[in-house]
Amino acid sequence: MEFDTIAAISTPMGEGAIAIVRMSGPESFLIADKVFKSIGNKRIKEVASHTIHYGHIVDPGTEEIIEEVMISVMKGPRTFTKEDVIEINCHGGMASVNRLLQLLVTNGARLAEPGEFTKRAFLNGRIDLSQAEAVMDLIRAKTDKAMNVALGQMEGRLSKLIRSLRQEILETLAQVEVNIDYPEYDDVEEMTHQLMLDKSKFVQEEIRKLLQTSQQGKILREGLSTVIVGRPNVGKSSLLNSLVQDSKAIVTDIPGTTRDVIEEYVNVRGVPLRLLDTAGIRETEDIVERIGVEKSRKVLKEADLILLVLNYSDDLTEEDINLFKAIEGMDYIVIVNKTDLPQKIDMDRIKELSANQKMVTTSLLQDKGINQLEEAISSLFFEGVIEASDMTYVSNTRHISLLNQALQSINEAISGVEMGTPIDIVQIDLTRTWELLGEIIGDSVHESLIDQLFSQFCLGK
Ligand code: GDP
Ligand code: ZN
Repeated sequence: MEFDTIAAISTPMGEGAIAIVRMSGPESFLIADKVFKSIGNKRIKEVASHTIHYGHIVDPGTEEIIEEVMISVMKGPRTFTKEDVIEINCHGGMASVNRLLQLLVTNGARLAEPGEFTKRAFLNGRIDLSQAEAVMDLIRAKTDKAMNVALGQMEGRLSKLIRSLRQEILETLAQVEVNIDYPEYDDVEEMTHQLMLDKSKFVQEEIRKLLQTSQQGKILREGLSTVIVGRPNVGKSSLLNSLVQDSKAIVTDIPGTTRDVIEEYVNVRGVPLRLLDTAGIRETEDIVERIGVEKSRKVLKEADLILLVLNYSDDLTEEDINLFKAIEGMDYIVIVNKTDLPQKIDMDRIKELSANQKMVTTSLLQDKGINQLEEAISSLFFEGVIEASDMTYVSNTRHISLLNQALQSINEAISGVEMGTPIDIVQIDLTRTWELLGEIIGDSVHESLIDQLFSQFCLGK
């Protein structure tokens, strides 16, 4: 059996610094040779099987270097799919990995359907069905649970958007049908054209917007933006360090000096956080320090989660109260730190101020309370209370490809209307757009049982 050449990102999104793009099929080596420049000018087609080569991915169209990579060359049938397989290891970064994948597609590969690599292994007699299912379980178990939740949230939002767009198209098509049924009205033709033009332009704009989100290339791998705020000396940096559990990140406040926001990436029970320790939100006369404060405010406004640190052995101050006001309406956790020292703070007052938000007490000095804090963070996330605000709707290459096709057919519908093409031709383009959008959410794919089974695999497996 001979298939075409498929390609996909085969590392889970949001994991690790290295991403692998995999390609399988008769043209794998040919396509690799088009985009890969090895250091010694070796041709992939000529190198020994099961060898690894270092070099650059270069866009043959623009000569632009896209990535520095290691390429594994594996000749069939001694491969997972029994076909010629290329694995490209790159540094990751969703944007550049997606670009690499697109480059393979423009040079002759096809985007793999979910589970298609495993499906080929099955169809080529490499594995049987139960083995295929075992692989599937393994992939499921390995998938980061936070990533699943995040993808769920994103997909929920994407599906909703796509559904309403499809509805819009459907209603337009229905209206056009009605108009066609009543040709006795004089202006019906012009009305129909105008309706199609308006609706198509609306759909075009919405698809464009969605495609724009994909270009940001940003997904949860960047983490929930989490800001630590509090008066000086309450223990913000200590908290950052506790969460990072890495002394290299230690930052002590040097009074009177400005510092930028400190950033650290941590994984709290499967929840990726991008932690930011601010220079303090307090008002200050010092113009130099103000730069830090202004930045802090901006960061605060854009945060997905706030960690507000208070001092257990100090009275609540005006500044504390102002901080509560500044973060009103946002998702935050109150951390009352320094419980190893005598209590001075009014806990009832904190409960009043923080309304229904979570609160934990800690002694960062004695390493106490961090567990409870981590628990609070992860439960907020997994209960869906906090969501990454800058999460891209569209990050999946299959979705991007479908959206591009949908954009193309809606463009054709628009130019059709503008050139006075007969309505029934334009209807075909609109219907096609509707179908392509449906494929994104799986509404217009009618698959066989085998297809359904394999579609449960992650893309690239
Ligand atoms: P920041 O200014 O809010 O970043 O506070 P730091 O993290 O730099 O901590 C200020 C001081 O408080 C440091 O001397 C810390 O060692 C101390 N500190 C932090 N957490 C605790 C705690 O739980 N108990 C006590 N006793 N001291 C703490
Ligand atoms: Zn600090």
